[in-house]
Amino acid sequence: MKIICVGRNYVAHAAELGNEVPEEPVIFLKPDTAILRENNPFYYPDFSKDIQHEVEVVLKVNKEGKNIESKFAHKYVDEIGLGIDFTARDLQSKAKSKGLPWDIAKGFNHSAPISRFIPIHSFQEISNLSFRLDINGNTVQNGNTSLMLFNFADIITYISKFYLLKKGDLIFTGTPAGVGPVKIGDQLNGYLGEEKLLDFEIK
Ligand code: MG
Repeated sequence: MKIICVGRNYVAHAAELGNEVPEEPVIFLKPDTAILRENNPFYYPDFSKDIQHEVEVVLKVNKEGKNIESKFAHKYVDEIGLGIDFTARDLQSKAKSKGLPWDIAKGFNHSAPISRFIPIHSFQEISNLSFRLDINGNTVQNGNTSLMLFNFADIITYISKFYLLKKGDLIFTGTPAGVGPVKIGDQLNGYLGEEKLLDFEIK
């Protein structure tokens, strides 16, 4: 399986990092070794001093497809969950300043904690779904899918032009504003709607 991520999909987040609002989705990949499941702790890696949280709604692909038309995109996802796109911001900034790829800053081991997945039909309206991240009981990121620049169908259509989507692939759909550093000892709680799906510690 592969993990496909969308960057800068919320205007306020693009602005907070000083990035332009993109005209097309910004896409990057993480390897399958980035996955961290079942609320296992995240161990702070020694290669970075600035690991930052990005809470995101994650789509799970349920069948193979390419060149998917927007009107059929919903048929390729029947479960959604929550994930953290952990980013070694110091490594990413260094790479960006040199115009180099920032894969390692995004794709290192366990940089993609994911929750369990929930049938999409159990949500009333996925185009207006709130989600948030609390750290040690304080809300640090608060998002709503209605604020995405590119909605789920747009994302699936765009990605499937370049990558054959396969059953089990995960799509991270971008983070709202409020990204920031985590530190050892932090407790992260992520909510999709009112459902607590992420609950793990930084060790
Ligand atoms: Mg992200």
